[in-house]
Amino acid sequence: MAKPQPKHAAQDDAPFDAETFGSQGRGLIETLTSYLSDVEKLPVLPYKDPAAMLAAWDAPIPLEGNGEAALQPFFERVIAESNHLHHPRYVGHQVSSPLPVAALCDLLSSFLNNGTAVYEMGQVSTVLERRLIEWYAALLGWDATKAGGVMTSGGSMGNLTALLAARQVQAEARGHNAWKEGMTHDSPRYAVMVCGQAHYCVARAAQIMGWGESGVIHVPADERYRLRADKLEETLAEAKAKGREVIAVVGSACSTANGAFDPLSEIAAFCKKHKLWFHIDAAHGGAAAMSEEYRHLLAGIEHADSVVWDAHKMMMVPALATLVAFRDKRHSYASFHQAASYLFTASAEEEWYNSGHRTIECTKNMMALKVYAPLMVYGQRFFGEYFARMSRLTAAFAAWLAEQQDFEIACAPQCNILCFRLKPAAVQNLEEINVLQRVVRAKILESGEFYLVQTVLDGVCWLRITVIHPGTSLEDLKQLAEAVRRHARESAYV
Ligand SMILES: *Cc1c(COP(=O)(O)O)cnc(C)c1O
Repeated sequence: MAKPQPKHAAQDDAPFDAETFGSQGRGLIETLTSYLSDVEKLPVLPYKDPAAMLAAWDAPIPLEGNGEAALQPFFERVIAESNHLHHPRYVGHQVSSPLPVAALCDLLSSFLNNGTAVYEMGQVSTVLERRLIEWYAALLGWDATKAGGVMTSGGSMGNLTALLAARQVQAEARGHNAWKEGMTHDSPRYAVMVCGQAHYCVARAAQIMGWGESGVIHVPADERYRLRADKLEETLAEAKAKGREVIAVVGSACSTANGAFDPLSEIAAFCKKHKLWFHIDAAHGGAAAMSEEYRHLLAGIEHADSVVWDAHKMMMVPALATLVAFRDKRHSYASFHQAASYLFTASAEEEWYNSGHRTIECTKNMMALKVYAPLMVYGQRFFGEYFARMSRLTAAFAAWLAEQQDFEIACAPQCNILCFRLKPAAVQNLEEINVLQRVVRAKILESGEFYLVQTVLDGVCWLRITVIHPGTSLEDLKQLAEAVRRHARESAYV
């Protein structure tokens, strides 16, 4: 009988040694545990410019591995050089400070690697995805037995998925099978109407579908950057006059730059009247559905044909986890059907459990886990209250800023996104004021005191914050305003 061989690195099963995994895993968890308790001592972002960062990571990829010893220093270095979203002074892009519970689910997903698209490859996550969509559909006021959908890797992918269905349903009503025949020179010149404040991924989706830049028709915005419903008829008439076949209106709930919620009920009525598809990009604000206090922002969403919501924004879930929900689940089969139209065969629908029929992605991670588990642990109300608390805090900060002589807000915030700028009396020229915001933001970025971003609305540059860390306080935000003033002074602007 052959003697058991001692394990060494060259042996095929060495990477799966359970004891090694246990010690590496405990090492990482311990490192992250200290990180979580000490993160406030770190700069929010230890910023390095791209060239310096590239130069710092210049080690050649080895032919022979360096073994286990390479791992812990790698973990520590990655953490040290990252943007620290668990820092309460992170008020940057809409990416959550993930719940540790949700992050553990990502480990589980990666470990099990049950890529979800083919039921047999991911039966648990397929079923959880369906349960989440049903739960969310009911929250939106839909009939959960009739609704359906899928999860996608991100809102950009989700909006494309929904708009592909919109195109197919609307095209078939015009006798054109867009999915099968494609966009040919004699296809209708489809277009979507959307407020200019919408996320760029809507335009990108239209361009991916072959409609060109003019396939996106902008409806003017009001003074709070919301779509002007009173301009819908006029915009549609102009589009028609230019030979455009509008098939859908996209409402934002809310817009990315400024957190503006479009008037969804009015858009719904307009879509009904003109038999247009009504899609809502609720990537950020879809979380308001869980809040008693803020769900009024979504009034009218019950009439939408499709809704996209990113759980990785206002649900403290790590990226990516997006729900694409259809009020009529049959519509989620409209595109991607490689055999025949959903109208003529029930087979794809009977196979709801093979979600690959309905998505661009084939292999995807078990993203339902990290949404489902936090809901089990904390419950829906917890997340509704979190959304409300972040929004109230943003309103309080906006009110405080509005009282300051030297600050201005773009408009009163509707949720937890706020645009504001320093406008000292000494600087009057628009271009100089714009430059001032950019300079100050760059200084704050370099200092690591806060992480915030900037945006341009109608030619005006604004500092932009998303209050997203549950531990951020009004005092933190006032300190941010102080830092803005200080850096402006130090840059000799005021
Ligand atoms: C963030 C966002 C997106 C893009 O979603 P990703 O998950 O980043 O792809 C689309 N629309 C709106 C309104 C958003 O806020």
